Amino acid sequence: MPDWKQLISKQVGELTEEVIKIRRDLHRHPEVSGKEERTSALVADYLADLGIEVGRCRENYGVTGLLRGAKPGPTVALRADMDALPLTEETGAEYASEVQGVMHACGHDIHTSVLLGTAAVLQRLRDRLAGKALFLFQPSEEFFPGGAVGMIREGVLDDPRPDVVFSLHTSSIPLGQIAIIPGPIIGSVSTLSLRILGKGGHFAGPHQTVDPIVVTSHVVVALESMMTRRVDPLDPAVLTFGMIQGGTRDNIIGDMVVLRGNIGALDESLCKFLMEELEKTVKGITQGMGAGYKLKYIHGYPTLRNDPQMTAYVQRIAGPLIGEANIKTCKPTLGGEDFSFFLQKVPGAMFFLGTHDPASGPPISNHDPRFNPDERAIPLGMEMMTHLVAGFKEFGRP
Ligand SMILES: [Zn+2]
Ligand SMILES: [Zn+2]
Repeated sequence: MPDWKQLISKQVGELTEEVIKIRRDLHRHPEVSGKEERTSALVADYLADLGIEVGRCRENYGVTGLLRGAKPGPTVALRADMDALPLTEETGAEYASEVQGVMHACGHDIHTSVLLGTAAVLQRLRDRLAGKALFLFQPSEEFFPGGAVGMIREGVLDDPRPDVVFSLHTSSIPLGQIAIIPGPIIGSVSTLSLRILGKGGHFAGPHQTVDPIVVTSHVVVALESMMTRRVDPLDPAVLTFGMIQGGTRDNIIGDMVVLRGNIGALDESLCKFLMEELEKTVKGITQGMGAGYKLKYIHGYPTLRNDPQMTAYVQRIAGPLIGEANIKTCKPTLGGEDFSFFLQKVPGAMFFLGTHDPASGPPISNHDPRFNPDERAIPLGMEMMTHLVAGFKEFGRP
């Protein structure tokens, strides 16, 4: 059996500088969900230059890479997401976004570069590798319906069929740590668009109108009550309206307000239940106040559930790399992640990779324009992903 620890750490050491360059290049040229043309071309070219078999999806910018080890063995899939967010960067980094209003604020530039680096390491160690590595670079994680579904529909999990799939996500835990729990780790999310339909008029004659701003105010407050009165306090759930738009000027009562928001719950059945309850509440209030409504919603991402055995495998791989004390557990989040679709087809796990330097001040959360994960996490990300492939034949089987 090869001494993977030494072999991998040597290759990671040699490749880290190159991977950081890729990360900065991706960071300078972010692309929002569904528009990852340049990123996917960069990924495909890099994999092809390594001599890895490249596949391109037709219906989205998904890219796959297949590396065949010299010896027979299982197929381990590794997934990275590639998209950025519509935000104006405020990190002040020298490699800050050069695209106005678009920014890698969720660390997907780190995920993509780490996975490319992992592919390079594994290609160098191909002669010793038993089994295959399948690299899944997916677009559009941040925007429903997500890029994973399209890739699965195109058959990226069919030939070869992976035995297992892993992914990582940058996190505000300290550098040198990972966090993982078995079972639900990221909740289910539904997105909604709600129109409150009133009847406009003069500000001084509200009795002749149906003021949609007043109706909306009642709706928002009633929905907050719904979240505390209809949900078991022990079941995690969240409703947030990230956008409300209505009216044109101060002395006119408008005729419509538009709200957009998300409902998240750790359990997808609760998420669906809450959408039904939400509609009942909206219907009751608008009817009572003489207004109308139009509601559109998409049941977005299912709950991301880590396979317990594969979670234990991730922990076992991490032990010799960072020490048991640096393998943390975490609370689940309700943010939504379309890696969950891959996990519905193939067992596997997602872990959080610490990218925060506590000496730099309090952590800044992802989706914040000042979010800048520390690049010193990149080598550990590459080591983890490489070991998850290299060790699977020996240690990964339950
Ligand atoms: Zn995100
Ligand atoms: Zn993300």
